Amino acid sequence: MSARLRIAIQKSGRLADKSLELLEAAGLRVLKGANELLYRIENAPIDLLRVRDDDIPTFVGDGVADLGIVGLNVLEEREDGRSAEPEQVMALGFGKCDLRLAAPIGFAYNGPRSLQGLRIATTYPHVLNRFLTENGVTADIITMRGAVEVAPRLKLANAICDLVSTGATLEANGLAPLDTVLRSEAVLIRAPRKIDPELEKVAESVVQRFKGVTSCRGAKYVMMNAPRAVLPKISAILPGAGSPTVTPLAGSDDMVAVHAVCQESVFWETLEELKAAGASAILVLPIEKMM
Ligand code: ATP
Ligand code: ZN
Repeated sequence: MSARLRIAIQKSGRLADKSLELLEAAGLRVLKGANELLYRIENAPIDLLRVRDDDIPTFVGDGVADLGIVGLNVLEEREDGRSAEPEQVMALGFGKCDLRLAAPIGFAYNGPRSLQGLRIATTYPHVLNRFLTENGVTADIITMRGAVEVAPRLKLANAICDLVSTGATLEANGLAPLDTVLRSEAVLIRAPRKIDPELEKVAESVVQRFKGVTSCRGAKYVMMNAPRAVLPKISAILPGAGSPTVTPLAGSDDMVAVHAVCQESVFWETLEELKAAGASAILVLPIEKMM
């Protein structure tokens, strides 16, 4: 049996579906077999190791898996002197959340110093400790497994440090955010050691395809006709575009076709501005793949 690349992903939870979607978007067909721990990729020599997210950095560091998809928060929290440090390859653009300090509404906060000598409950003691140390603050960190947001109400802590995406949980518990300790999103990590040369090629192709998928997200292909003279104006209006491709229109000395990839949203207002600048026949198309 020839070797297969192993990618560790979260088995179930907030990153699980998005990780599978990313793989599918990268053209990797996931076979959900009877084996709960291992899914196979049908059209490439890749297996998916489905585990708890907290174990992913260790598995990748140890080389049990070659690549892994995990939240930056989990990666940063890891303090495991035993296995090697996985390498961060790229941010994946999903699973975005912030690790935030929060305290009961009305808490007088004037920067991290306001936390001096207080008790802070968190499931991220290492990341919090690093933040406090960098800010020259000493506080009593209470490590909890979950339900951190109830700690102030139980008089267990003065403040908390927890993951927040919408802030609804904080609000429901009478808490207000104070500061952001870490901005997190899902990241692709890889084993720090050399992998089999054949599998290295597979890993490289996965990375390139992930880059293609993430850079396509939200990107649009914009085409229009315009007089050559207004090209500088049009380039300035196009949101997040590199230099556009310009080709002469058949039968015209003056008119050109302008094609550009826009990395940001193209709004109706943008189209109106382009039109006012002299562009016509403006088309905005979704991009399916990019490399
Ligand atoms: P597991 O069973 O794998 O240990 P878990 O309960 O630790 O799962 P989830 O709640 O599924 O983890 O969250 C996985 C990751 O999703 C988090 O580590 C974080 O990177 C990301 N995430 C995105 N938004 C949020 C949020 N609002 N709260 C918590 N995590 C979030
Ligand atoms: Zn977890």
